[in-house]
Amino acid sequence: MSLIETPPSHLATTARYLLTDSRQLTFPEQSIFFAIRGERHDGHHYLPELYQRGLREFVVEESALTPELEAQIAAWPHARVWVVPSSLRALQQVATQHRKRFDLPVVGITGSNGKTIVKEWLAQLLAPSERVAASPKSYNSQVGVPLSVWTLSEQHTVALFEAGISRPHEMEYLQPIIRPTVGIFTNIGTAHAEGFRSLKQKITEKLRLFTKVETLIYRTDYPEIDEEVRLILRPVNPALRLLTWGTSAPAEVAVKYLPQAAGTSIVLAGTLGEHTFETHFRDEASLENLTHGLVFLLNHGLAPDEIQRRIARLRPVSMRLELKEGTYRSYVIDDTYNNDLQGLTMALNFLAQQEQRSRKVVVLSDVLQTGQSQDVLYQTLAELLREKGVQRLIGVGPELTRQAARFGDLQSTFYPDTATLLREFPFSTLTDSVILVKGARPFSFEQIVNRLQQKVHKTVLEINLDALTHNLNYYRQKAGTGTKIMAMVKAFAYGSGSAEVANLLQFHRVDYLAVAYADEGVSLRQNGITLPIMVMNPTRPAFETLVQYNLEPELYSPRIFTDWLEFVATQSKPDKVPAVHLKLDTGMHRLGFVPTDYSWLIGQLSSPSAPRVASAFSHLAGADEGEHNAFSRLQYQRFLEGTQLIEQALGYPVIKHILNSAGIVRFPEHRLDLVRLGIGLYGVEATGTEQRFLQNVGTLKTVISQIKQVPAGETIGYSRRGRLERDSVIGTLAIGYADGYDRRLGNGTGQVWVNGTLCPTVGNVCMDMTMVDLTGATAQEGDEVVVFGPQVPITDMAQRLQTIPYELLTGLSERVKRVFFKE
Ligand SMILES: *Cc1c(COP(=O)(O)O)cnc(C)c1O
Repeated sequence: MSLIETPPSHLATTARYLLTDSRQLTFPEQSIFFAIRGERHDGHHYLPELYQRGLREFVVEESALTPELEAQIAAWPHARVWVVPSSLRALQQVATQHRKRFDLPVVGITGSNGKTIVKEWLAQLLAPSERVAASPKSYNSQVGVPLSVWTLSEQHTVALFEAGISRPHEMEYLQPIIRPTVGIFTNIGTAHAEGFRSLKQKITEKLRLFTKVETLIYRTDYPEIDEEVRLILRPVNPALRLLTWGTSAPAEVAVKYLPQAAGTSIVLAGTLGEHTFETHFRDEASLENLTHGLVFLLNHGLAPDEIQRRIARLRPVSMRLELKEGTYRSYVIDDTYNNDLQGLTMALNFLAQQEQRSRKVVVLSDVLQTGQSQDVLYQTLAELLREKGVQRLIGVGPELTRQAARFGDLQSTFYPDTATLLREFPFSTLTDSVILVKGARPFSFEQIVNRLQQKVHKTVLEINLDALTHNLNYYRQKAGTGTKIMAMVKAFAYGSGSAEVANLLQFHRVDYLAVAYADEGVSLRQNGITLPIMVMNPTRPAFETLVQYNLEPELYSPRIFTDWLEFVATQSKPDKVPAVHLKLDTGMHRLGFVPTDYSWLIGQLSSPSAPRVASAFSHLAGADEGEHNAFSRLQYQRFLEGTQLIEQALGYPVIKHILNSAGIVRFPEHRLDLVRLGIGLYGVEATGTEQRFLQNVGTLKTVISQIKQVPAGETIGYSRRGRLERDSVIGTLAIGYADGYDRRLGNGTGQVWVNGTLCPTVGNVCMDMTMVDLTGATAQEGDEVVVFGPQVPITDMAQRLQTIPYELLTGLSERVKRVFFKE
C-alpha cells in the first residue's frame, strides 16, 4: 500500500537526486520525481513508467490526482507520494531549504548575455584555490536553478549560480533559492524584450535577484542598469555596496582596453588599485565577461599576479556536445572541454539517447573534481556508467587506473596518459558503436577525437539540435495538445541527416515520421528508430520490405491500392501487414485518389478484405502564399467530404490530416488530428510571417584554403569570367558545385560571411572550389567561412538564386559531412 500524503509546511526528502525529466533517470532508488506540468509536457504521464523502473518517491499536483491516478497509485506497494498544489513550487522549496544549510559566498549572476560564460570562467579562475559549486551548463530557469542549488554540499567553499528570466515575477522565486551574497549583472540587451513591457521593467525584474546581496558588480556603461540600481534597488537594500566598473561612464573602477599584437591589455584603476592584465581575447563580449571576473577576483582578495597566471590559461567556453560520424560505422560524441560529474552525467544522458547504435563506449579521463573523496567519486562514477548502459570503458589517467577494480563488470582498458593510449589502443576494435569522448582539458582528448572521426573535408553542415528542438516545440504549441505531429524526414531529413534527426524526434516523442521512399524508412529502422513511419511513394517491388521493416505505405491510386491488396493476399501472416494511409487529391494534382475514384474506393473499403487504414490525408498546393487562401479552404472542404465517405465505408474513424508547416501557421483551424511538419522544423518559416520565432538549424561552413593579392586587370577562374577592376585580395574556398554550392552563385551572385564581412564570389564556381573577394575583410588562410547560417540566411541565398530553401538544403551533397551539436 502506498502512502499518499500532503507534506507539512515544506517537504523533506531523503533522496539524493531531484528528477524532473523522466528521461534522465539514473538512480531510481535514490531519486524523487517532481511531476511538473508545462505548456507542452505533463510529468504526470510518466508516473507508472517511473514506478516500473524502481522509483519510489513522487510529488504530484492536487489537480492532476484524478480518481484513476489515485487508484493506480494506491496499487503500488511502497511508493511515497506527496500531493502539493504545485510541483514546481515544491521543487523550489526543497532547494530553498537545502540552500539554508550552507553559509558560504554565493555569487548570483544574471543579465541578458554572458551569464554562462561569466560563470564558467569564474569557475575556471577560482578552481585552483577554491572548491566551487556551479550551475551545470546554463541551468538558470525556474527548474534549472533549484537543480543547480541542490548540488551544493559541505565541501564547497564558493558557489556560482546563474538566473535567467523571461517574464515578470519569475525572479521572486529564484532569489530565495540562490540567496546570493554577491551579485553580477552582466549586461542588458534591448532584444528579446518579449515577456516585458519595457527595458526598464526587464531590468527591475532582474534586479530582484540582488535584494539581499552585500556587493553588486555591474558595468556603468549601461546607463539604464545604473539608473535602476540607484533608483529601485538601493532603497530596498540600503547596505548594498556597489562595485561598478566602466570604460566610458564614471565608475568605482575605470577600465581601459588597449589592443596589443597578441590580444588586449586590460587596465583597471580605482577602488581596487591599479592593475594591468594581458589576455589573448580581443572581442568586446569576451573582454566584458572577463572584466566582470577580474573585478570579482580582486575584490575576493586574489593576488593580481596569481590572477594573471590564471587568466593566461582561460579557454573560450564551448559547452557543445558534438555528434560526428566516426570511423568503422561508429558515431563520436566530442565533449573534451571539461570533466566533472555533472557534465559527465549530461554527456552520458546524450549518449544513452543515441539509439542509432546499441554499443555504447566511453573514453574517459580522470575526473578533476575537488571536494569529494576519490573512492566515493569513482564508486559513483562506476554506478553511473552502469546505469547508463555503457558496455566498454577506456580510462585515461593515474587515478582511473588506480580505481580499475571498480569497473570490473565493464569491458575496460586503462592507460596512464593520452599519448600511451594513442600509441597502443587498437582503434579498429571500436566498430558499430556510439563513443563518448569525455576528458578534462589537460588530457588533450581532441587528439583522440581526431583519431576516431572520419577524416573529412573541411566543408561541413552543422546541425544545431537545440534549435531543432526549439522549432519542434514552437509548432507543437501551435498545433495544440489534441493534434499529433508527423515529422517529415524525407530526403535525408531535408539534407540534415535522417538517422540523427529522427533519433532526436523520437526522443522528443513525436507521433509519426514520414519518408518518401521505402529505402529511407529501412535506413531509419536500421538506426534504431521505432516510431511509426509512413512511406509516401511505395512501389510494388518494395512491399516485401515494407512488411519486413514495419513501414506504412501511402496508397494513392486504384492501381497501387490493388497491387497492395494482391500482395497482402499472398502473405501468410496478414495481421503482420502494416496499416495504410490513403491520400486524396483535393487540388495539388500530384498523387492521390481523385473524386471519380471515390465510388470504387468506397466499394473496396466496405469489403471484408479492406486494408487497415491508419489515416487519410491530403496536401495543400499553396499553403505558403496568402493569395491562395481561398483555394486552400476549398481543398480543406473537399478533403472533409472525401474523408466522410471513407470513414462511413470503414465504419471506424481514421486520423485525418492536411496541413504542412505553412498550413500550421496560416490555418490553425484546419489542424484536424495530425499535422505534417517539414521545413519549419529545419528553421525556415515558409509563409515568411513568423520567421523570427524559429531558430537557425543548419549552418554550412567551409574554410579558406589560400589567399592571394591579385592586381587589377587579371581574371579569376575558368573562362576568365571574373575580371578584376581593382587590386584585390582573393580567397579560395574549399567548396564547389559538387558540394551543392550552386554554380549560378558565381560572379558575385553569392556571398559568404568571413569574420564579420560579407564577401562576394568572383568568377565561376568550380567543381570543388570557389573564389571570393576578400578585399576589405580580415582573413587568414584556414579561417572559417559561413556559406549560410545565422549570418547569411538561407532564405536570402535562395532568393538570389530564384529558388526555395528546400532545394538548397536537399541539394547539399554527401561529401559535406553533417556535425550535430547541442549546447
Ligand atoms: C514534404 C511534405 C510535407 C511537409 O511540407 P513542408 O512545407 O516542408 O512543411 C507535408 N506533406 C507532404 C505530403 C509532403 O510531401
